[in-house]
Amino acid sequence: MSAKYLYTFGDGKAEGQAGMKNLLGGKGANLAEMSNLGIPVPAGFTITTEMCTVYYQMDRKYPPELDQKIRDAIAQVEKIMRAKFGDPVNPLLVSVRSGARVSMPGMMDTVLNLGLNDQTVQGLIKQSGNERFGWDSYRRFVQMYGDVVLGLKPESKEDEDPFEVALHEKKKKLGIKLDTEFSAKDLRELVQEFKALIKKGKGVEFPEDPWKQLWGAIEAVFGSWNGARAIKYRKLNGIPEDWGTAVNVQAMVYGNMGEDSGTGVAFTRDPATGNNMFFGEYLLNAQGEDVVAGIRTPEPVNESTKNNPGQTTLQKAMPEAYKTLEEIYLNLEKHYTDMQDIEFTIQKGKLWMLQTRNGKRTAQAAVKIAVDMVREGLIDKKTAVKRIVPSQLDQLLHPTFDPKAPKKVIAKGLPASPGAAAGRVVFNSDDAEAWANRGEKVILVRIETSPEDIGGMDKSQGILTAFGGMTSHAAVVARGMGKCCVAGCGAVEISYKDKQFTVGDKATVKEGDWISLNGSTGEVMLGAVPTVKPELSGDFGQVMKWADEIRKIGVRTNADTPKDSQVALDFGAEGIGLCRTEHMFFEGDRIKAMREMILADDTEGRKKALAKLLPYQRDDFYGIFKVMAGRPVTIRLLDPPLHEFLPQEDANQAEMAKEMNVSVEKVKNKVASLHELNPMLGHRGCRLGVTYPEITEMQARAIFEAACQLRKKEKIDSKPEVMIPLIGTVGEMVNQKTLIVETAKKVFAEQGVELHYMVGTMIEIPRAALVADKIAEHAEFFSFGTNDLTQMGFGYSRDDAGRFLPSYVDMGILPEDPFQVLDQEGIGQLVQIGIERGRKTRKDLKVGICGEHGGEPKSVIFCHRVGMNYVSCSPYRVPIARLAAAHAAIEDQEGKIERDK
Ligand code: PEP
Ligand code: MG
Repeated sequence: MSAKYLYTFGDGKAEGQAGMKNLLGGKGANLAEMSNLGIPVPAGFTITTEMCTVYYQMDRKYPPELDQKIRDAIAQVEKIMRAKFGDPVNPLLVSVRSGARVSMPGMMDTVLNLGLNDQTVQGLIKQSGNERFGWDSYRRFVQMYGDVVLGLKPESKEDEDPFEVALHEKKKKLGIKLDTEFSAKDLRELVQEFKALIKKGKGVEFPEDPWKQLWGAIEAVFGSWNGARAIKYRKLNGIPEDWGTAVNVQAMVYGNMGEDSGTGVAFTRDPATGNNMFFGEYLLNAQGEDVVAGIRTPEPVNESTKNNPGQTTLQKAMPEAYKTLEEIYLNLEKHYTDMQDIEFTIQKGKLWMLQTRNGKRTAQAAVKIAVDMVREGLIDKKTAVKRIVPSQLDQLLHPTFDPKAPKKVIAKGLPASPGAAAGRVVFNSDDAEAWANRGEKVILVRIETSPEDIGGMDKSQGILTAFGGMTSHAAVVARGMGKCCVAGCGAVEISYKDKQFTVGDKATVKEGDWISLNGSTGEVMLGAVPTVKPELSGDFGQVMKWADEIRKIGVRTNADTPKDSQVALDFGAEGIGLCRTEHMFFEGDRIKAMREMILADDTEGRKKALAKLLPYQRDDFYGIFKVMAGRPVTIRLLDPPLHEFLPQEDANQAEMAKEMNVSVEKVKNKVASLHELNPMLGHRGCRLGVTYPEITEMQARAIFEAACQLRKKEKIDSKPEVMIPLIGTVGEMVNQKTLIVETAKKVFAEQGVELHYMVGTMIEIPRAALVADKIAEHAEFFSFGTNDLTQMGFGYSRDDAGRFLPSYVDMGILPEDPFQVLDQEGIGQLVQIGIERGRKTRKDLKVGICGEHGGEPKSVIFCHRVGMNYVSCSPYRVPIARLAAAHAAIEDQEGKIERDK
């Protein structure tokens, strides 16, 4: 056998190193690296992940030469640790642990104290001078081995663990409560009782031979790679089946050998704030699990992090060991150039390092640590940018719940728009506005929202809907507003009539009751959970500046008010990629004029109503152009079906009839005539503009008049990009473009101003992507509307897919919700074809994306790869997109992205 299946480490050297994670697993590679750095690591060896593959290929057998390799490696460990495997006087004991390429916490098996038997336990007692400790270690080993290797465990969830039952009975017999109250004699008896349990339950003797024990444990660890827990975890986290796990066999060291021993965990910097201070916790005379188990309260490691004078720090209790620890942590951080999460044990005054890994951290800490490390010269700007996970920035941009506050979760929906909101429940938009206007904080709870609800949504702290997915109206609008939203929360049963909602028999929430929503997790909680406001510190701005220097594609925003535009500008948006004009028609008197237009019987009537809308639209555009101060602004012409502007409920229809001075009948007839079986595929988008050209003309006029007036009044040259929605044929494109160009000519002549503008289209119908070469003859830009493109490409209704999509994702039929993360494999092809064909006709065709995917990191990387000019997303996702775009550029530079040939 030529392959090297085993790598040793210890005594200041190792055969492996940090770069060998694939072969040695994360833990093995780090142990080797620490050894190479001269850091005291208990000696040991790693059996490779490759061996795991061979083991399964050989039908759970090993190549015969592995036995000798293991014997040689143990001999080396014996030499370094000055102890002997199986020796009754001075026994070497080992741990056997799993370790895959990526950490799979708790998913695979571990055996500790291996090598103990009836003889070697005496040696351990002699070496430690502590009889109770010896028997307790032995008792724990037999229990662990019996469970993990020999499989004596509860048959089902309802069954009790046989070892725990025995422990419990023993305590009852002795009249004691805690494990710590067992005497050495009790523990010795327990060892025998446990062995008898194994014999009885499994029909095998507990193996006294340490070599047999070792093989059993190695096999169990390899076997646990294919255990149910590990398989499920791999599936959930997309870890390939064929990676395999390594097995780490390492000398045991003990932190519970007396008052000159201890164990602890520490972070080289504060993982919550990122502050550059070493901090951690330890326990004297204890084993690692005691620190985490919470039975004894650990003490701070150093004086500077002490928070009450009664605490004894490691720095005071064991100054020598502390000094070594300090040297080591500095060395490790410098070596890995990242914040480390470390574990250590002190055995009889000597410090041993058991683990080091890059520490998990909050978004705030990630940003601070990255910026500090650039300043300290540890990393460069590119590395700093790479270290921040784009989706984690959400934590910095929205208020979050105080992690210390108690919470009572009653239901979970889709995390549609991040944030933390608490307020009193109201069930309709008017109430939301009325309550908010008198100073109440409200949460708007709706079965689903429609454009009519916009006012109430705006005034609410957060929105909860029972139906609708991630691109439902509520979700899109809430994200646009930077407002917390939990959508599609099926467990919530709403009764508008009774003004209450129920969650099974768990809770009944009435109008006026307080609830809290977590838009990042989808949790719905009873009561008002307190929130904390995040600080956008200078470090955040710094990282974003570096990201901007690196990224290649532009980042715009989807905004349709001057206020949102300003928010997005503050977040670094470089233009508007989508201004949805329909949202502008709901405020105050506008909806009246809009309804008048819809009710009109002929073109003349429509024109009259549209003339009323014109000044509103013009003012809206003027405000947006002004805020955007010369940056490009893409304005999309009216898109939704007209029925969305009419009330659906009887009472509201009656009210509308009264207001408009028409009969209820007329309103009802109009609503009925506009009814469509499939409105998403119906009379919407450019189809409205084609059949009612006066709508397109009015909107184009408003855009150009606003731009001309802004030039005349404020000397600002705006860059309008007029965008036609839902184009599927060239004919539609030509029809609408002609109207727009003619209107522009007229307005420029009237105003005496000439302005540069563009006319382009959304590509959101699959056919449009396929005939993109023809469309590009008339369109100066494309913006991919991937919400509709996903809807029509998959044939999944945006509004109804919430009923089955979560199951599809759970079952692995789809890797992710394609309305959240762009389906690169399928819909991505349509995007690529659209760009390629479009640019074949028009080389300089400007291409962007304005579907919800424009702010989703993986999709942004895709957009970079296919050569888009920009992405556009809701204001609060602009920083995320900027960072993701920088990641894309870095990956590209580093050759991770294979360019399409
Ligand atoms: C889209 O379809 O991706 C899009 C941006 O338009 P809307 O969501 O308004 O349909
Ligand atoms: Mg669309």
